[in-house]
Amino acid sequence: MSFILFQDQIIPREQGKVDIEDRGYQFGDGIYEAIPVYGGQMFLLDLHMKRLKRSANELRLQLPFNIDLLTEKLNKLIGLNRINDGIVYFQITRGSAPRQHFFPDQAGSILTGSVVSHDWRGNHDSGIETSLAEDIRWLRCDIKTLNLLGNVLAKQYAHEQGSQEAILHRGENVTEGASSNVFIVKNNHLITHPADHLILNGITRLFVLELAERLGITVDEQTFTLDDLFSADEVFITSTGNEVMPVVKIDGRTVADGKAGDVTSKLGEAFTGEVTQFIASAIS
Ligand code: PMP
Repeated sequence: MSFILFQDQIIPREQGKVDIEDRGYQFGDGIYEAIPVYGGQMFLLDLHMKRLKRSANELRLQLPFNIDLLTEKLNKLIGLNRINDGIVYFQITRGSAPRQHFFPDQAGSILTGSVVSHDWRGNHDSGIETSLAEDIRWLRCDIKTLNLLGNVLAKQYAHEQGSQEAILHRGENVTEGASSNVFIVKNNHLITHPADHLILNGITRLFVLELAERLGITVDEQTFTLDDLFSADEVFITSTGNEVMPVVKIDGRTVADGKAGDVTSKLGEAFTGEVTQFIASAIS
């Protein structure tokens, strides 16, 4: 049996019922987070919770209860579902109310959460193929909202091209992936889009920037173009589900020699090292 979180209650999945007038269902009026679980424990939890609070503030959405209680409930959920390696997903909507666009006076926000197993091994050695897609999303991509249609359409396009991720661009400028952040490496120097309103500031992105600093790899958070992308020595994406993932093809064109590059591999190894330490410290 699998269990879900429904407000502050953990219940069997079949018993979770959301009203048809829930604003998440009708308007996509809500936010979410996805947190990696290694060795049964949530990784980079504080950064995820900080982003959650920021998303809520930006949308003037009340969290139904505080972060400490939420953390406690999510830990219980992971334990009850016996998840060792996985991803916790939860969302908060503005609640249920007769359908009108402006905020309802009284609807309390609704939180639902679940956790699934995830295999972290993935194809980190061989890397992934990607497709380019125009970034048609709104101008507040920094908020982790349930409105993901621009991302969904781009990902579907990539899927139909036989690739695993869409790299989005606004005109000449690369923004991010459909569900990841994009980095390029040129002369051992790392470049990624600044964390402004055009991208989601990924928690993996933030952690990789920290790892780069520790490893003495120089970084510029600056806009880069499609030309920069195609002439890069290395390209990789970061996300909770993919960690640090090499990109070996873009629209059928091979990136450099078609293999994971040195800087990408160094960052990937550093990431794995941190996770190994995290698991060890959680056990002891
Ligand atoms: N950008 C977008 C659009 C995403 O959906 C995601 C993953 N949710 C990311 C970046 C990566 O964020 P994170 O590292 O926090 O998973």
